[in-house]
Amino acid sequence: MAAPKVAVVGAGVIGLSTALCIVETCPSCSVTVLSDQFSPNTTSDVAAGMLIPHTYPGTPIHVQKQWFKETFAYLFAISNSAEASEAGIHLVSGWQVFKNTPKEELPFWSDVVLGFRPMSEAELRKFPQHRFGQAFTTLKADCPPYLLWLEKRLKATGAQMYTRKVADLWELHSEYNIVVNCTGIGAHQLVGDAKLLPVRGQVLKVHAPWVKNFIRDGDGLTYIYPGIHRVTLGGTREKESWSLSPDPGTTKNIFERCCSLEPSLRGAQDITVKVGLRPSRWCVRLEREVLSQGGVKLPVVHNYGHGSGGFSVHWGTAKEAARLVGECIAALQGSSSRAKL
Ligand code: FAD
Repeated sequence: MAAPKVAVVGAGVIGLSTALCIVETCPSCSVTVLSDQFSPNTTSDVAAGMLIPHTYPGTPIHVQKQWFKETFAYLFAISNSAEASEAGIHLVSGWQVFKNTPKEELPFWSDVVLGFRPMSEAELRKFPQHRFGQAFTTLKADCPPYLLWLEKRLKATGAQMYTRKVADLWELHSEYNIVVNCTGIGAHQLVGDAKLLPVRGQVLKVHAPWVKNFIRDGDGLTYIYPGIHRVTLGGTREKESWSLSPDPGTTKNIFERCCSLEPSLRGAQDITVKVGLRPSRWCVRLEREVLSQGGVKLPVVHNYGHGSGGFSVHWGTAKEAARLVGECIAALQGSSSRAKL
């Protein structure tokens, strides 16, 4: 069989990392990324890019932990390299604070991040409304630079990228041997997945260079995540809202909530507002499917539905998707050699 042609649909963090992982694990493949939007116009561009996992109720914890571990190790290596600044990857230390002691004092990812420990009394004095807290160091991706860095690495391998809206995965069957579906919330329409729903998130990006530590309220709704150039203030989680328009009342509310955690933010300047739709699902859809019409078959690998935690697990899920692409190639090679006999 000639070099297998693989189309990856979607150019958010999941599509780009999956395409790169396929190129790295199968250098003989010809990989093309097709997407109706590229950075800076994807949901992934809006994200804060913090490596703090979200829990998927339908995915076994040991699998989620493996995805997170692989992602953490991948980005940690970038943060320790000369690429760190261009890729927008850096370590960040801070606190997760709770008004009441949480049921689970040791989250499943506590031994993957660095230096996880309960906060001291002295640290807790900074947060008079909170009674318990956890301190740790994790990684953060500044999302638009990271997406551009992934695109640059992909182009350097010879991968192609085209702007194209795919109306039906089957339309790709005559041009590609394998299709990988990384369309985020777009999969709701593209493959009619009614289990995939948007959870709208509004965030502010501000100039506040004195804020160096992250602060996250344990409920995950209010957070302050400092990046290399801007600080992300969040947020909201609005289930089944498809609106991409910023809401001014919500902007004010987010700002007030963040100032109550970090009063110095009253001096923040140059506030911009962003909205994104998290592709939320009971579990990430990471599986093979074979589409078939009139005896013609098209192997598909789905990799979407990462909800609130796409950055935290992207490299782990990309590795698994690339492994599934490898299985599709083996099956295609098996059927083409049987046909020759
Ligand atoms: P997307 O980035 O939406 O990419 C989907 C791609 O598919 C796009 O390029 C789109 O144009 C393309 N596409 C869709 N349909 C079609 C079609 N029919 N034809 C062609 N192309 C198509 N996660 C974390 O881990 N840490 C965080 O701190 C964090 N913060 C967040 C804050 C906010 C406010 C939001 C909204 C999300 C946050 N997330 C965070 C979650 C994270 O952003 C998502 O899990 C992740 O971006 C999903 O990536 P994706 O590539 O699947 O989707």
